[in-house]
Amino acid sequence: MQQIKLIKRPSGTPTNEDFEFAEAPIGEPAEGEVLIRTNYISVDPYLRGRMNNVKSYVPPFELDSVITSAVIGQVIESKSTHFEKNDVVTGGLGWQEYSVVQESEVRKIDTNLAPASAYLSVLGMTGLTAYFGLLDIADPKEGETVVVSGAAGAVGSVVGQIAKIKGAHVVGIAGSDEKIEYLKNELGFDAAINYKTEEIETALAKACPNGIDVYYENVGGEIGDAVLPLLNKFARIPVCGAISAYNNKEADIGLRVQSYLIKSSALMQGFTVGDYASRFKEGSEALAGWLQAGEIQYEETITEGFENTIDAFLDLFQGANVGKAIVKVSDI
Ligand code: NDP
Repeated sequence: MQQIKLIKRPSGTPTNEDFEFAEAPIGEPAEGEVLIRTNYISVDPYLRGRMNNVKSYVPPFELDSVITSAVIGQVIESKSTHFEKNDVVTGGLGWQEYSVVQESEVRKIDTNLAPASAYLSVLGMTGLTAYFGLLDIADPKEGETVVVSGAAGAVGSVVGQIAKIKGAHVVGIAGSDEKIEYLKNELGFDAAINYKTEEIETALAKACPNGIDVYYENVGGEIGDAVLPLLNKFARIPVCGAISAYNNKEADIGLRVQSYLIKSSALMQGFTVGDYASRFKEGSEALAGWLQAGEIQYEETITEGFENTIDAFLDLFQGANVGKAIVKVSDI
């Protein structure tokens, strides 16, 4: 079987040369283990951070080791009393076509509730990130203005829809006209701004006539700078990510924030979705309820073929995805 290893720490934007396809035997499950065929692999911006040799909330990938991320797979052989052949499971597994894992490393998912891939998107880590970052840190109220960057991505698209459910005026910022149309016409955002073609300060001022109460920060850099002058008193800023800086070689000078935070008495709080691990059940149930009631929609950009996994990851930094970026490796 094929697997993908990190063989070089990327300098700046990662390239194909930083990765290697390798052959490995499939392996046999021992007592308490299962053999899983990989169906879907999640490619995520945060994986870029794990390719650097720096201490963070998740340890860096080892060089010459298989990359890992959230994966959906099907049990094809079980030596565990918890799993049967054909069970569909998820866990943090390797970028490889098959995995032999301990029963404790995976959990079953209910594919009657939603298609399996949804457990990598709206019902998975990115949906939970949207849910907790928005509701726990920002707690948007009816009539408030919520701005979200990376708005057509996996996290941002769910943030905007939950904010709409809460009765907010929702403005998304994204990088193509197709995404802008999607946000306004499909997801019901009140306004959406293409940061690549529009003058962002002017467009934001127009889209947010009552100022900004919540800024859900996914991208960092200049977009954040444009939002800050419009913050209302007691604004809240969940700092979820800063993808615009992930490939910078020098440390980013960061957001020029202090004076704006002081002027607006705003709260800016960083978080990782793992902070809410004890409440994932609550988040999953709420998201599944909205999904079933048709109150939230989700989009996935599915790249076919294990051989295209690296390209799907690199495409995140070009904005090629609408909604969650996922690689389909095999049929369930
Ligand atoms: P997305 O699905 O949003 O994919 C990444 C998107 O980022 C691209 O489609 C692109 O959209 C946008 N982008 C890429 N480069 C830039 C740039 N230079 N400036 C502005 N936008 C850019 O990814 P996720 O939803 O998975 O993640 C969104 C953010 O949330 C990331 O920063 C990620 O690291 C963070 N995150 C944090 C978590 C936490 O626990 N704190 C958990 C999960 C994600 P466009 O066309 O609009 O440019």
